[in-house]
Amino acid sequence: MQNQNQNQQLIERLLTGDRRALARMVTLIENGVPGARECLAELHRHAGHAHIIGVTGAPGVGKSTLVTQLTREFRRRERRVAVIAVDPTSPFSGGALLGDRIRMMELAGDPGVFIRSMASRGSLGGLSAATRDVVRAMDAAGYDPILIETVGTGQAEVEIMRAAHSVMVVCAPGLGDEVQALKAGILEIADLFVVSKKDKPGANQTAAELAMLLSLAPDRRTAAWRIPIVLTSALKGEGIDQLVEALERHRRFLQESGLLQQRAQRQIRSEIEALIVQRVLQSLEEQVSPDEWRRLLSEINQRARDPYSVARELETRLGISH
Ligand code: GDP
Repeated sequence: MQNQNQNQQLIERLLTGDRRALARMVTLIENGVPGARECLAELHRHAGHAHIIGVTGAPGVGKSTLVTQLTREFRRRERRVAVIAVDPTSPFSGGALLGDRIRMMELAGDPGVFIRSMASRGSLGGLSAATRDVVRAMDAAGYDPILIETVGTGQAEVEIMRAAHSVMVVCAPGLGDEVQALKAGILEIADLFVVSKKDKPGANQTAAELAMLLSLAPDRRTAAWRIPIVLTSALKGEGIDQLVEALERHRRFLQESGLLQQRAQRQIRSEIEALIVQRVLQSLEEQVSPDEWRRLLSEINQRARDPYSVARELETRLGISH
């Protein structure tokens, strides 16, 4: 456990943009070390400047290639870039995921780039909370933009993407069912679509399908923003510039429309709620022993008791009944 003095020093170093201090902080966050929250509370005062960009899409569509190229383009524009690669399906943390990301590793030598991968250690709620905390630390350390890349397009990714201001959904040509599959959930959170691998046949077709899909389901986030569809080829280095421009446009749109603030506030509210729920579950675990759980569940199962009165009884014990 770190003492307060060490924490204070760590925060100060982090705020100057020290990458090693940031790496240490991220580890503290991931390990749920006592004291990490106090650090984050302080870092919160210094965060709130970064553009947080979510990148999601099915495996193999070219997300990490794209993130690498985006990072290069932002570097050309003299921005310091942080990347979090999140894999909600993998129980491994750290190296395992990054090991696969050779292209991203090329960037790791650049002091203006900070890359970290995160994997699920337990609950999804835990992972999305940890992602949010890591974003906060990166933001306070002066990185802007912060790219969050997730694997896949399931519910887990939707949850993680809520931390982002601008969500880009990546599709590759030739995966016909993919556009259909997008209907579930992801469409609601997309701010930009990218058709990757435009050097391959079928890219225009995929873009047309996306445009059709969008025309059928008008943007639910805000009608004032027309979701752009950007075609890129990492192979030929095409479209990356336009993608960065589209992202910058979306950022300006969020700022000027007041949506940035609205979204941030909604985010923070759900963050506070999650912290409270987490605390309640924790005290429930402290208050009710495994033996007692077994007894209660068995009584309920045998119809001697019911879930409602048991919940009430436990709420009283936790001091949250009304
Ligand atoms: P991810 O799983 O979505 O992160 O996808 P990757 O970035 O690992 O890319 C998957 C495969 O697609 C790799 O073999 C890449 O080399 C390839 N790829 C990525 N972008 C392009 C592109 O623009 N054109 C072509 N032809 N291949 C690409």
